[in-house]
Order: sequence, then C-alpha cells, then structure tokens
Amino acid sequence: MNFEFNDEQKALQQLARRVAKEKVAPRAAELDETGIYPEDIFAVFRETGLLGTGIPVEYEGSGLGIVGLAIAVEEVAKYCNSCALMLLLTRLGTSAILYGGTEEQKRKYLPAVATGAMRSAFALTEPGAGSDSGQIRTTAVRDGDHYILNGTKQWISGATVADFFVVATKTRPDAGNKGFSVFIVEKDTPGFRVGSHNKKMGVKGVPTAELIFENARVPAANLLGTEHEGFKLIMANLNSLRPVVAARGLGTAEGCLAYAIQYAKERETFGKKIIQHQAIGFSLAEIAMQVEAVRLLTYKAASMVDAGQYGKKAAPYFSMAKALASELANKAAYDCLQVMGSYGYSSEYPMERYYRDARQLTIVEGTSQIQRLIISNALIDGDLAY
Ligand SMILES: Cc1cc2nc3c(=O)[nH]c(=O)nc-3n(C[C@H](O)[C@H](O)[C@H](O)COP(=O)(O)OP(=O)(O)OC[C@H]3O[C@@H](n4cnc5c(N)ncnc54)[C@H](O)[C@@H]3O)c2cc1C
Repeated sequence: MNFEFNDEQKALQQLARRVAKEKVAPRAAELDETGIYPEDIFAVFRETGLLGTGIPVEYEGSGLGIVGLAIAVEEVAKYCNSCALMLLLTRLGTSAILYGGTEEQKRKYLPAVATGAMRSAFALTEPGAGSDSGQIRTTAVRDGDHYILNGTKQWISGATVADFFVVATKTRPDAGNKGFSVFIVEKDTPGFRVGSHNKKMGVKGVPTAELIFENARVPAANLLGTEHEGFKLIMANLNSLRPVVAARGLGTAEGCLAYAIQYAKERETFGKKIIQHQAIGFSLAEIAMQVEAVRLLTYKAASMVDAGQYGKKAAPYFSMAKALASELANKAAYDCLQVMGSYGYSSEYPMERYYRDARQLTIVEGTSQIQRLIISNALIDGDLAY
C-alpha cells in the first residue's frame, strides 16, 4: 500500500499550488463580486497545461487521469471554488465522450478541451427533474440523418461559455432509464440557445444557465454510444466526476482551515491567542482530522476511476467521498467562520465567500441524500458488504 503521490503527481501538485497561490487567489474575491467568468484564469490554465490534466495523452492531454484532476482541483479550491469548477468541467463535459464516444468524436472534442480550444458542459438537470433523472422530458426524435431535440435544461454550469454540451435526452419518453440517449450539441446548432442565468448564492465566477431546445437539429453522428442506452453513460459520467467534486470540498475545507488557523494565531482575547482557548483549538483540530480522513477516501475513489472502475459496483465509494467531502466543506466553512467572529461574517474577508461557495457542494452531482441512497442500495444489493 502506498499513500504517496508519484513524482509526476507531485510535480502537478506543485504546479497547481503555485498557479492557485499566484494567479487564482488574487482574483477570487473579484470574481465573486462581479460574477464575470474569468477569461484570464482560463488562459492561465491553458498555458500551464492544467486544462488537459484529466484528458489522455493520445488526445493531447497530460494523461494524469481523475487522480490528477482531483489534485489540481484540490489546490485551486483552497482559494477559489469557481476556478476549481473550471478545471472540473474539462471532464464533466467529456467523460461520456471518453467512455462512449467513437474515435472520430474523441478526436474532435477531447484535444479541443485539453488545449482550451473548446469548452464543454454537461446537461442533465431540468426544471422538473434533478435527483430523479429518469423523469427528464427533453426528447430526441430521429429525422433522417439528424435528431430533433425539444426541451429545457437548467442549472448547467459553464453554459454561457461552453462550445458544446453533452446532453441527456429521451428517445423513448415512457421507458424511464431505458429510454435515454446522449448527444453532443454544439452551441451554434439551429434551434438551440442558452437561456437565462440561474441566479445563485455562490460559485459566481462560473455562470449557471438554462438551455433551450426548440426543434434543435443535431446530426445523428453526434449520438454518444447506443440509442436508448444512454443512462449508463450518464451515470458513468457522474460517477467518474464525484471524486473530483470531493476534491473541491476537500480543497475548500483546507482553505477555510488554513485561513482560520492563521487568524486564530493572531487574534487575542482574555490575554491569549484565541487558538490557545481549547474551544477554538479543538474546533480546528476536528476539521484537521476530518480533512486527513476525507483526503484518503477522495484519492481512493479517484484512483478507482482511473483503474476503470466507474460502474455501479464502485459507485458507493464515489458517493461516500462526495458526500463526506462536501459536508466537511460546509462544516469547515461554518466552524471557521465562527472562529473569526464578526470578521468571518464580513464580506471583506474570504470566509463568508467560502461559506456560500461550500453550500452548493452537497447539492450538485447528486445531493447528499442521493449519495446515501446509492450507498444504502449497495448495502441492500450486497455490492457493498462488511
Ligand atoms: C450551482 C449548481 C450547479 C449545477 N450544475 C449542473 C450541471 O452542470 N449540469 C446539470 O445537469 N445539473 C447541474 N446542477 C443541478 C444539480 O445536479 C441538481 O440541482 C441536483 O441533482 C438536485 O436536483 P434538484 O435541485 O432538482 O432537487 P430535487 O431532486 O427536487 O430534490 C429536492 C430535495 O429532495 C431530496 N430528495 C430527492 N429525492 C430523494 C430521495 N429519493 N430520497 C431522499 N431525498 C430525496 C433531495 O436530496 C433534495 O434535498 C447544478 C446545481 C447547482 C445548484
């Protein structure tokens, strides 16, 4: 058993740490205030090669897999959750292509994302269907060498800057999970447009918006995998990214902890640094313990994906990592804000932003309740046995 990153992973960690400290951290508050997507940070990620971290070498990425992407995301999330999401999106919108695409589809889209020539997004959620994704209503009907798509998606991260979308539809509307088909939809597809922004409390640097399909004509060549069998592909896409969402939570918790420790070593009350009050020291110790535990689970889950285990049997581990890390991020933000007293509550300091940014992590990519459902179903089925 080896708990160390290899040399290549350590080099990536150093690079991501440097980029995060020098380029991302100084921009984090401003992104949050303006809600404007940071093209300058995207350019830094492109120039440093970080966009290609999770894309295989044969498609112009650096081939460091989901473990590599998690490493980069963890470092960036220490300072800015929006920027961590920008990196995560390089796989959220491409895992389904990697797992189910034709060679031609892979050659067209994966190198483009790895090099920053194109941006991708993933579109499953609709106004009437989030957790219960079997209920999506966007339809795709074959018409010669095209499919005609109709429906609305919402809460699509990065929608306003994406060049293409991996979109879940129904080709058999009444067949539940057995009627899914997945398409690559390019932004200039006739009948397709990005709708209004979803206003939100945090992660403001990456806008989230609706997608509207009104008789959108998508080439049949853009079908991903097999018609009607897209549900498995959607689940594989989600599964492979849950460890990376966990890394966002982990990095957020570490960012909170680092800031609060520094603060607690400087602030004095009743003649002591506040970290020397046991209540404060223990509160920080509790988060430190959980950070260490969650890091192990996060990278275990990430390495399972890289070993090709991203199906149903491995799913409970992704759920555990995702739920624990995202709940830890919220606990860390809550407790570290408390450590800082009124300064924690002030928008002049970063803790208030961490607090708002952390909140979405227990909702996206499957809520904490849905993660528990996956884990408990695995206990019932025996996929997870003790
Ligand atoms: C900032 C942000 C970014 C997002 N980005 C994307 C994206 O890029 N692409 C995309 O497709 N989607 C995205 N989403 C959507 C997200 O994945 C959904 O919001 C999420 O899956 C939950 O769906 P819902 O909001 O419809 O809640 P619902 O499914 O309506 O759930 C409401 C509540 O009921 C609970 N619940 C539901 N079913 C059960 C059950 N069986 N047992 C117990 N409790 C249950 C849920 O846990 C939740 O607490 C994003 C959302 C946010 C907030």
